[in-house]
Amino acid sequence: MDYDPIKKGKIDEMPVQPNLLDYERAKEEFRWEDVKKELDWFDGGKINIAYQVLDRHIKTPLRDKIALYWESKDGESEKYSFLDLSKLSNRFANALRKLGVRKGDRVFTYMDRTPEQYISLLGGLKVGGVIGPLFSAFGPDAVKDRLADCEARVLITTPKLVNAIHEVLEELPALDTIIIVNRSKTPYDLEDKKVSYEGLMDEASDEFDIEKTDKEDYAIIHYTSGTTGKPKGVIHAHEAIMGHYATARYVLDLHPEDIYWCTADPGWVTGTSYGIFGPWSNGISQVIYGGGFGAGAWYRVIAKYKVTVWYTAPTAIRMLMKAGDSVANNHDLTSLRYTCSVGEPLNPEAVLWGKDVIGLPFHDNWWQTETGCIQIANYPIQDIRPGSMGKPFMAVTAAILDDNCEKEVPPGQEGHLALKAGWPSMFRTYWNKKELYESRFKGEWYITGDRATMDEEGYFWFVGRADDVINTGGHLVGPFEVESALIEHPAVAEAGVIGIPDPLVMEVIKAFVSLKDGHEPSDELMRDIKRFARKKLLAAACPRQIEFVSGLPVTKSGKIMRRLLKARELGLPEGDTSTLEE
Ligand code: ATP
Ligand code: MG
Repeated sequence: MDYDPIKKGKIDEMPVQPNLLDYERAKEEFRWEDVKKELDWFDGGKINIAYQVLDRHIKTPLRDKIALYWESKDGESEKYSFLDLSKLSNRFANALRKLGVRKGDRVFTYMDRTPEQYISLLGGLKVGGVIGPLFSAFGPDAVKDRLADCEARVLITTPKLVNAIHEVLEELPALDTIIIVNRSKTPYDLEDKKVSYEGLMDEASDEFDIEKTDKEDYAIIHYTSGTTGKPKGVIHAHEAIMGHYATARYVLDLHPEDIYWCTADPGWVTGTSYGIFGPWSNGISQVIYGGGFGAGAWYRVIAKYKVTVWYTAPTAIRMLMKAGDSVANNHDLTSLRYTCSVGEPLNPEAVLWGKDVIGLPFHDNWWQTETGCIQIANYPIQDIRPGSMGKPFMAVTAAILDDNCEKEVPPGQEGHLALKAGWPSMFRTYWNKKELYESRFKGEWYITGDRATMDEEGYFWFVGRADDVINTGGHLVGPFEVESALIEHPAVAEAGVIGIPDPLVMEVIKAFVSLKDGHEPSDELMRDIKRFARKKLLAAACPRQIEFVSGLPVTKSGKIMRRLLKARELGLPEGDTSTLEE
């Protein structure tokens, strides 16, 4: 697929000078040692993430700056300065300490995106806990599996959600405290292990002697998105903050005057690394919107708060495209100056749509729960090649390895995407799965599980998950390439592509396609989409079968679950579906 690059022009003519001015030079000169000096360390090389994101700012003019603009789905709004959040999280940390929570205990949140969730997570870090945020849309089994896997001690939730998971609480013997956040103050009986968040906060002091955790002490447990199988509990240590801080500065290009909005929920790693740690460690004001997706609602948030930097995901961008350009045109989006995307491959069509309709192309970047922070990215200063994930972050050595994961392959050749191990936010283990963790490394390389290519100029191009790549008549075809071609068809909103077994050619390509509003499935449309695909793709990559569907199965973080399309197609067990968006 060939698209013209999106040119960036001269740096000194840009309205805002990017934090990264010279990629090649920065790549040469970047040292984690220098990043380390920009953060505040305790004696003996100790560091606590919550101190970096809140308390250290209290000693500077940032103390009264608004850290959080919160807007609920019903239009309620609240704002909190860095000082407010520092004191509130101190209170919560005091409460946890009083309840007997100790360094290393697992402290989970299971609630909507309200300020209390952010206060709880930061308070949990202050007391030395290992924090685990869960999506409020999880069902009882999804909650149980995760809390049981890592023997969580504390759960912070709401009356409605705790009632919804009542049946599994007895199966969680390690869980000794359930803290109930009752924003609406509806009468609620605090029986068993339950205590009131508001009661604890009223009694607690604003002052807290923060746990001086070691840089290697565990800080966060994040369960992966479950796109390829059962979610794994990924562990990050306190020094991960160096990665969040540096990438928020140089990739998301956050500047002191920015109003930043990351649309991700903390239940997905993007919602913590870049919905808490990256922006606040840089002293940036951010918006948190408590509602779900809605094109009109999202544009209203941008216009109301005059959001300047926006970080979202391909699935959301595709839904905005589906909603139609006129919805975007009805809102004042001129405050935006920089837009980024992560989570799935970003179709070239979506990059170009951003440029045409919003006036800014989306900058794709790639990373995983395991990597903790962005590893490959498009930067403000570099031309965008639509469909490419960009170039490795300065501190990162990325490579494409051969089938044995031993040798690097030449530019243009497809292989395993690997990263040279050893960056601060790299995961420390998979909880309870040491062998699986170890199997992800080969020599000096961390093997990501994704396949990709690198071109002559060092841009990386995503091909597919190693599990998803289709072998058809000896050709390896990545689903992303086929899906991207299909969604360029004017009637197609979303496409999910899988290989189904075939006696002759190993696998044939099948595409599940959902249509934009105003289009109806028909044989004629199917033929037209096939014809269209033939013009865009090599013959081997053209879908043999197309099935119209009303929507695709996606994870709660918005990723197409191709394994589920495949299991359903072949009548096989569906496996873990805890992260499926209903
Ligand atoms: P699981 O590991 O449970 O199957 P998951 O891999 O989807 O779930 P995450 O850690 O949230 O869980 O996602 C990381 C993966 O998302 C990457 O390995 C990659 O496949 C995909 N991804 C993220 N960003 C991009 C991107 N910009 N382009 C292409 N793929 C991306
Ligand atoms: Mg994964």
